[in-house]
Amino acid sequence: MGKRVKSPVKNKTAFLSCHHTRNYKVSQIPDAGKESWCFRCQCYSIVMHHVLDFGFKCMGCRYARTFGAARLNMEIAASRHHRRFPTHEVIGFKGDEKLHTWAKVDKQDNGSNSLFDSDTESEIPPF
Ligand SMILES: [Zn+2]
Ligand SMILES: [Zn+2]
Repeated sequence: MGKRVKSPVKNKTAFLSCHHTRNYKVSQIPDAGKESWCFRCQCYSIVMHHVLDFGFKCMGCRYARTFGAARLNMEIAASRHHRRFPTHEVIGFKGDEKLHTWAKVDKQDNGSNSLFDSDTESEIPPF
């Protein structure tokens, strides 16, 4: 831990009284009970509640994406990226909060070398 990773998420999703959703910047979203224009209905609806969006960021290649209110879509895409690039550390967010880290996996072919190194080290007397 320690180093602060900035979340790529900057938006919230508003759930409207017409059962549609609308995405807003966190600083611009209307409070619950206020009106919001619905692009699908082409009329005003009432904001029922809002939730912070989900997103992930890759520390290995700086790839970042956001996913609206769909946590599952974020987890699927993040783990797919991690499977493709196991040496990349991928961090999932809800808003600014870290949800999950897909830790980087060191390459297998370096394994024998580092094992040999630690073996020779252990034979050095402790003084
Ligand atoms: Zn609507
Ligand atoms: Zn990556």
